[in-house]
Amino acid sequence: MKDCNSCGKCCEAWGSDGLSASSEEVERWETYRPDIARYVQDGKIWIDPATGEYFDRCPWLTKSPDGQKLICDIYEDRPEDCRYYPVEIADMVRDDCEMLEPRDLDNLRRAQRRLDEIMIASRPPAGRQP
Ligand code: SF4
Ligand code: SF4
Repeated sequence: MKDCNSCGKCCEAWGSDGLSASSEEVERWETYRPDIARYVQDGKIWIDPATGEYFDRCPWLTKSPDGQKLICDIYEDRPEDCRYYPVEIADMVRDDCEMLEPRDLDNLRRAQRRLDEIMIASRPPAGRQP
């Protein structure tokens, strides 16, 4: 299994209406990051305040200066949901996560064990890279 290369596919897959935030997270954003809180409505993220609907794409996902990666503009303050990706190999397969190698796909159970080791070793959770 390779390191995360910031391809952004997980954010593309989940960043529209696939994320949730706890009330504690929302309160923290309201206090310290009102720029983030403006995209929260009734605990739902990420909502376009102009329409009241989910954005089609996470509003914090942007290209790196060299255009080679997709980066998170709120990396240090991103939701817990984002910090804990990836947890399940099945999600990585579904999202075409570029951490996966052919040998991982050949043996998904072994790949899950390897992923578990990586996530335990990276505590506090690394999530996807900035
Ligand atoms: S990590 Fe950042 S860019 Fe990706 S879905 Fe989460 S908030 Fe959006
Ligand atoms: S965790 Fe996987 S899908 Fe997400 S940015 Fe990293 S390599 Fe891409």
